[in-house]
Amino acid sequence: MRRAGHDFGVWPVSRVGSLPLAGLGRATKDFLFPPTCLCCRKAVASAGALCQECWSAILFIERPYCDRLGTPFATDLGQEGLISPEAVANPPVYGRARAVAQFDEGPVRTLVHRLKYGDRLEIARSLGLWMARAGADILAEADVVVPVPMHRRRLMKRRYNQANVLARAVSAHHGIPVDPFLLERIKSTPTQVNLTRSQRALNMQGAFAVPEAARPKVEGRAIVLVDDVLTSGATLNAAARVLLRHRAARVDVLVFARVL
Ligand SMILES: [Zn+2]
Repeated sequence: MRRAGHDFGVWPVSRVGSLPLAGLGRATKDFLFPPTCLCCRKAVASAGALCQECWSAILFIERPYCDRLGTPFATDLGQEGLISPEAVANPPVYGRARAVAQFDEGPVRTLVHRLKYGDRLEIARSLGLWMARAGADILAEADVVVPVPMHRRRLMKRRYNQANVLARAVSAHHGIPVDPFLLERIKSTPTQVNLTRSQRALNMQGAFAVPEAARPKVEGRAIVLVDDVLTSGATLNAAARVLLRHRAARVDVLVFARVL
Protein backbone atom coordinates (compact mmCIF):
# COMPACT_ATOMS: atom_id res chain seq x y z
CA MET A 1 0.00 0.00 0.00
CA ARG A 2 1.34 3.38 -0.96
CA ARG A 3 -0.01 6.86 -0.87
CA ALA A 4 -1.20 7.87 -4.30
CA GLY A 5 1.36 9.95 -6.10
CA HIS A 6 -0.98 11.34 -8.72
CA ASP A 7 -3.71 13.87 -8.21
CA PHE A 8 -6.97 12.22 -7.13
CA GLY A 9 -8.05 15.36 -5.38
CA VAL A 10 -9.34 17.77 -7.95
CA TRP A 11 -12.64 17.41 -9.74
CA PRO A 12 -12.38 18.96 -13.23
CA VAL A 13 -13.98 22.39 -13.19
CA SER A 14 -16.07 21.59 -16.28
CA ARG A 15 -17.99 19.00 -14.24
CA VAL A 16 -19.07 21.54 -11.68
CA GLY A 17 -21.02 23.08 -14.56
CA SER A 18 -24.07 20.95 -13.85
CA LEU A 19 -24.68 22.81 -10.58
CA PRO A 20 -27.49 25.39 -10.62
CA LEU A 21 -24.79 28.06 -10.44
CA ALA A 22 -23.47 27.06 -13.85
CA GLY A 23 -24.12 30.53 -15.25
CA LEU A 24 -21.72 32.17 -12.84
CA GLY A 25 -18.00 32.34 -13.49
CA ARG A 26 -15.78 30.14 -11.39
CA ALA A 27 -14.22 33.10 -9.62
CA THR A 28 -17.67 34.37 -8.60
CA LYS A 29 -18.71 30.93 -7.36
CA ASP A 30 -15.51 30.56 -5.36
CA PHE A 31 -16.08 34.01 -3.85
CA LEU A 32 -19.67 33.23 -2.86
CA PHE A 33 -18.96 29.63 -1.83
CA PRO A 34 -15.24 29.18 -1.19
CA PRO A 35 -14.32 25.54 -1.93
CA THR A 36 -13.79 23.42 1.17
CA CYS A 37 -12.22 20.03 1.85
CA LEU A 38 -14.75 17.23 1.20
CA CYS A 39 -13.79 15.75 4.51
CA CYS A 40 -12.88 18.37 7.14
CA ARG A 41 -14.29 21.49 5.38
CA LYS A 42 -11.02 23.42 5.57
CA ALA A 43 -10.50 25.86 2.66
CA VAL A 44 -8.99 24.27 -0.47
CA ALA A 45 -8.02 25.58 -3.90
CA SER A 46 -10.75 23.88 -5.94
CA ALA A 47 -14.15 22.28 -5.45
CA GLY A 48 -14.42 18.51 -4.94
CA ALA A 49 -10.93 18.18 -3.45
CA LEU A 50 -9.40 17.11 -0.17
CA CYS A 51 -7.00 19.23 1.87
CA GLN A 52 -3.39 18.08 2.10
CA GLU A 53 -3.86 16.69 5.60
CA CYS A 54 -6.91 14.54 4.78
CA TRP A 55 -5.36 13.52 1.46
CA SER A 56 -2.21 12.15 3.05
CA ALA A 57 -4.18 10.34 5.77
CA ILE A 58 -5.94 8.14 3.18
CA LEU A 59 -4.40 4.76 2.37
CA PHE A 60 -5.02 4.55 -1.37
CA ILE A 61 -4.85 1.04 -2.82
CA GLU A 62 -2.48 0.87 -5.75
CA ARG A 63 -0.76 -1.83 -7.75
CA PRO A 64 0.71 -4.30 -7.13
CA TYR A 65 -2.40 -6.03 -5.82
CA CYS A 66 -4.09 -9.44 -6.08
CA ASP A 67 -5.84 -9.51 -9.45
CA ARG A 68 -8.97 -11.14 -7.96
CA LEU A 69 -9.36 -9.63 -4.50
CA GLY A 70 -7.71 -6.29 -5.25
CA THR A 71 -5.82 -6.55 -1.94
CA PRO A 72 -2.35 -5.02 -2.02
CA PHE A 73 0.83 -7.11 -2.10
CA ALA A 74 3.62 -6.17 0.29
CA THR A 75 6.28 -6.51 -2.40
CA ASP A 76 6.23 -6.00 -6.14
CA LEU A 77 7.07 -9.26 -7.92
CA GLY A 78 6.93 -7.43 -11.23
CA GLN A 79 4.25 -9.69 -12.74
CA GLU A 80 0.79 -8.69 -13.88
CA GLY A 81 -2.30 -10.71 -12.92
CA LEU A 82 -0.91 -12.41 -9.79
CA ILE A 83 -3.42 -14.02 -7.42
CA SER A 84 -2.97 -13.95 -3.63
CA PRO A 85 -2.94 -17.22 -1.60
CA GLU A 86 -6.16 -16.04 0.06
CA ALA A 87 -7.93 -15.75 -3.30
CA VAL A 88 -6.85 -19.31 -4.15
CA ALA A 89 -7.90 -20.72 -0.76
CA ASN A 90 -11.16 -18.83 -0.48
CA PRO A 91 -12.18 -17.48 -3.91
CA PRO A 92 -15.03 -14.95 -4.01
CA VAL A 93 -18.15 -15.57 -6.11
CA TYR A 94 -17.43 -12.41 -8.11
CA GLY A 95 -14.51 -12.28 -10.51
CA ARG A 96 -12.40 -9.29 -9.48
CA ALA A 97 -12.73 -6.53 -6.90
CA ARG A 98 -11.28 -3.02 -7.10
CA ALA A 99 -11.32 -0.32 -4.41
CA VAL A 100 -10.02 3.22 -4.14
CA ALA A 101 -8.84 3.09 -0.54
CA GLN A 102 -8.52 1.05 2.59
CA PHE A 103 -11.40 1.58 5.02
CA ASP A 104 -10.23 3.00 8.34
CA GLU A 105 -11.34 5.39 11.06
CA GLY A 106 -9.88 8.47 9.35
CA PRO A 107 -11.07 10.53 6.37
CA VAL A 108 -12.32 7.45 4.47
CA ARG A 109 -14.86 6.72 7.19
CA THR A 110 -15.90 10.39 7.24
CA LEU A 111 -16.40 10.42 3.46
CA VAL A 112 -18.50 7.23 3.56
CA HIS A 113 -20.57 8.65 6.41
CA ARG A 114 -21.09 11.98 4.61
CA LEU A 115 -22.13 10.16 1.45
CA LYS A 116 -24.77 8.28 3.43
CA TYR A 117 -26.11 11.10 5.55
CA GLY A 118 -25.55 14.35 3.70
CA ASP A 119 -23.59 16.34 1.09
CA ARG A 120 -24.04 13.37 -1.15
CA LEU A 121 -23.79 14.97 -4.56
CA GLU A 122 -20.55 16.86 -4.11
CA ILE A 123 -18.87 13.86 -2.48
CA ALA A 124 -20.29 11.35 -4.97
CA ARG A 125 -18.81 13.31 -7.88
CA SER A 126 -15.30 13.00 -6.51
CA LEU A 127 -15.70 9.43 -5.25
CA GLY A 128 -17.12 8.42 -8.64
CA LEU A 129 -14.09 9.88 -10.39
CA TRP A 130 -11.65 8.07 -8.10
CA MET A 131 -13.63 4.81 -8.46
CA ALA A 132 -13.66 5.09 -12.26
CA ARG A 133 -9.86 5.35 -12.12
CA ALA A 134 -9.37 2.54 -9.59
CA GLY A 135 -11.69 0.26 -11.60
CA ALA A 136 -10.46 1.24 -15.07
CA ASP A 137 -9.48 -2.34 -16.01
CA ILE A 138 -12.77 -3.99 -14.98
CA LEU A 139 -14.90 -1.13 -16.39
CA ALA A 140 -13.13 -1.45 -19.75
CA GLU A 141 -14.46 -5.02 -20.05
CA ALA A 142 -17.96 -4.34 -18.69
CA ASP A 143 -21.32 -3.67 -20.35
CA VAL A 144 -23.17 -2.11 -17.43
CA VAL A 145 -22.74 -1.01 -13.80
CA VAL A 146 -25.33 -2.12 -11.25
CA PRO A 147 -25.60 -0.57 -7.77
CA VAL A 148 -26.10 -3.00 -4.89
CA PRO A 149 -29.81 -2.44 -4.20
CA MET A 150 -31.37 -1.52 -0.90
CA HIS A 151 -34.60 -3.09 0.37
CA ARG A 152 -37.52 -0.78 -0.40
CA ARG A 153 -38.50 -0.40 3.26
CA ARG A 154 -35.02 0.87 4.04
CA LEU A 155 -35.01 3.00 0.92
CA MET A 156 -38.24 4.68 2.02
CA LYS A 157 -36.68 5.50 5.38
CA ARG A 158 -33.31 6.62 4.01
CA ARG A 159 -34.73 8.19 0.80
CA TYR A 160 -31.73 7.30 -1.36
CA ASN A 161 -29.29 4.46 -1.90
CA GLN A 162 -25.66 5.60 -1.70
CA ALA A 163 -24.61 2.70 -3.98
CA ASN A 164 -26.93 4.07 -6.65
CA VAL A 165 -25.53 7.59 -6.24
CA LEU A 166 -21.99 6.19 -6.63
CA ALA A 167 -22.89 4.03 -9.65
CA ARG A 168 -24.32 7.11 -11.37
CA ALA A 169 -21.20 9.11 -10.55
CA VAL A 170 -18.95 6.36 -11.98
CA SER A 171 -21.15 6.23 -15.08
CA ALA A 172 -21.09 10.03 -15.47
CA HIS A 173 -17.32 9.99 -15.50
CA HIS A 174 -16.69 6.80 -17.47
CA GLY A 175 -19.64 6.76 -19.87
CA ILE A 176 -20.63 3.16 -19.07
CA PRO A 177 -24.42 2.75 -18.68
CA VAL A 178 -25.91 2.18 -15.23
CA ASP A 179 -28.98 0.01 -14.64
CA PRO A 180 -30.38 -0.08 -11.09
CA PHE A 181 -33.22 -2.42 -12.14
CA LEU A 182 -31.24 -5.57 -12.95
CA LEU A 183 -31.11 -6.59 -9.31
CA GLU A 184 -33.64 -6.32 -6.49
CA ARG A 185 -33.28 -6.73 -2.75
CA ILE A 186 -36.13 -8.99 -1.72
CA LYS A 187 -35.09 -9.68 1.87
CA SER A 188 -34.60 -7.01 4.49
CA THR A 189 -31.44 -8.14 6.26
CA PRO A 190 -30.62 -7.21 9.85
CA THR A 191 -27.39 -5.30 10.42
CA GLN A 192 -24.25 -7.35 9.83
CA VAL A 193 -22.01 -5.45 12.22
CA ASN A 194 -21.74 -8.09 14.97
CA LEU A 195 -21.84 -11.19 12.79
CA THR A 196 -19.02 -13.58 11.90
CA ARG A 197 -18.07 -14.19 8.28
CA SER A 198 -20.20 -17.36 7.97
CA GLN A 199 -23.13 -15.73 9.80
CA ARG A 200 -22.97 -12.87 7.32
CA ALA A 201 -23.09 -15.27 4.38
CA LEU A 202 -26.11 -17.02 5.91
CA ASN A 203 -27.76 -13.68 6.64
CA MET A 204 -27.48 -12.67 2.98
CA GLN A 205 -28.91 -15.92 1.58
CA GLY A 206 -31.91 -15.18 -0.63
CA ALA A 207 -31.48 -11.43 -0.17
CA PHE A 208 -31.34 -10.62 -3.90
CA ALA A 209 -33.28 -11.54 -7.01
CA VAL A 210 -33.20 -10.66 -10.70
CA PRO A 211 -36.69 -9.42 -11.65
CA GLU A 212 -38.31 -11.39 -14.48
CA ALA A 213 -38.29 -8.42 -16.87
CA ALA A 214 -34.55 -7.86 -16.28
CA ARG A 215 -33.44 -11.43 -17.06
CA PRO A 216 -32.77 -10.90 -20.78
CA LYS A 217 -30.62 -7.87 -19.83
CA VAL A 218 -28.49 -9.94 -17.45
CA GLU A 219 -27.83 -12.95 -19.66
CA GLY A 220 -24.47 -12.75 -21.42
CA ARG A 221 -23.62 -9.32 -19.97
CA ALA A 222 -20.44 -8.34 -18.16
CA ILE A 223 -21.58 -6.56 -15.00
CA VAL A 224 -19.74 -4.39 -12.47
CA LEU A 225 -21.49 -4.27 -9.09
CA VAL A 226 -21.00 -0.96 -7.27
CA ASP A 227 -21.15 -0.37 -3.51
CA ASP A 228 -19.63 2.08 -1.03
CA VAL A 229 -17.76 -0.35 1.22
CA LEU A 230 -16.65 -3.98 0.91
CA THR A 231 -16.46 -5.59 4.35
CA SER A 232 -16.60 -9.42 4.46
CA GLY A 233 -17.79 -9.67 0.86
CA ALA A 234 -20.98 -11.48 1.95
CA THR A 235 -23.31 -8.90 0.37
CA LEU A 236 -21.38 -8.65 -2.90
CA ASN A 237 -20.97 -12.44 -3.11
CA ALA A 238 -24.72 -12.93 -2.66
CA ALA A 239 -25.50 -10.31 -5.32
CA ALA A 240 -22.94 -11.78 -7.74
CA ARG A 241 -24.27 -15.31 -7.19
CA VAL A 242 -27.79 -14.31 -8.26
CA LEU A 243 -26.54 -12.49 -11.38
CA LEU A 244 -24.34 -15.46 -12.37
CA ARG A 245 -27.25 -17.85 -11.81
CA HIS A 246 -29.12 -15.80 -14.40
CA ARG A 247 -26.18 -16.30 -16.79
CA ALA A 248 -24.35 -13.00 -16.52
CA ALA A 249 -21.12 -13.43 -18.50
CA ARG A 250 -19.06 -12.10 -15.58
CA VAL A 251 -19.53 -10.08 -12.42
CA ASP A 252 -16.82 -7.83 -11.01
CA VAL A 253 -16.99 -5.47 -8.03
CA LEU A 254 -16.08 -1.80 -7.61
CA VAL A 255 -16.24 -0.06 -4.22
CA PHE A 256 -14.92 3.14 -2.74
CA ALA A 257 -13.35 1.53 0.31
CA ARG A 258 -12.61 -1.96 1.55
CA VAL A 259 -11.86 -3.39 4.95
CA LEU A 260 -8.48 -5.16 4.94
ZN1 LIG B 1 -9.45 18.05 5.04
